[in-house]
Amino acid sequence: MARHRSPGGQAPSPALDDAPNGDVKRVRGSHRLPAPSSALRGRVVVAAVAAGAFAAAAAGQTLQATSGDSNTDVTPLASARDASAAFGVGGNAPVAAPELLPVARNSDASAEVQKLTDSAEVTQARQQREADAAAAAAEADRLAAEKAAEEAARPDVVVPAEGRFTSGYGSRWGTNHNGMDIANSIGTPIVAAMEGTVIEAGPASGFGLWVRIQHDDGTITVYGHMNSFSVSEGDRVKAGDQIAEIGNRGQSTGPHLHFEVWTGGGKKIDPRPWLIERGADI
Ligand SMILES: [Zn+2]
Repeated sequence: MARHRSPGGQAPSPALDDAPNGDVKRVRGSHRLPAPSSALRGRVVVAAVAAGAFAAAAAGQTLQATSGDSNTDVTPLASARDASAAFGVGGNAPVAAPELLPVARNSDASAEVQKLTDSAEVTQARQQREADAAAAAAEADRLAAEKAAEEAARPDVVVPAEGRFTSGYGSRWGTNHNGMDIANSIGTPIVAAMEGTVIEAGPASGFGLWVRIQHDDGTITVYGHMNSFSVSEGDRVKAGDQIAEIGNRGQSTGPHLHFEVWTGGGKKIDPRPWLIERGADI
């Protein structure tokens, strides 16, 4: 590309040397013509474009030199681009500037439309967020009401394990049986019979392992022979919460839960009527 560069400065232009116009000599003389109007320049450039990009470049350089523009360091590529731009505007248009105004207005209008569109989208997004929040709040309310209903429907006292009632409270084999037995396979869940606080969970003589829960009225329920337990002293439990699994530890003749109820005064009472009186499904 370097070979296409203008010789620079005030050097004569081959394009004008070849031009038949007699005014050319005056252009290169000591008395220069004023700078060509933009219309004349446009026509000259358009003609040059028709003659080819290289000629256009040369013409552009010549015009710059003629108008006294000292910036001659313009590559043919740049000049050709200028020529193409001039041609695009319209070769015979008197002034290029007015042609640009509608474009500018269109651009502003497009920007306004875009702003309105953006505004509508922002509003829509905000409304969607508000709708989502309202739906989430409604769902939270519904879940809270559902939970409250479950809590209200939850029995105060439940049977502590599923299984067969194999032995009741009272005299048995010449001794006193202080609780009731519910037989089931090892691993069957044992649950708290009533809401309360775990006061002991661990080994106990005769029970193998036991868990004792103290309830708010002072009553204590006792669970024995379990295979394992999953609560510890101080835990707060509700009726139905699992606390252990049925086992066969201690003085036991088969996997079962041994369940006792102690009054606040420490008396061991019959668990069965205690459960029934409090609504356990037994
Ligand atoms: Zn027992």
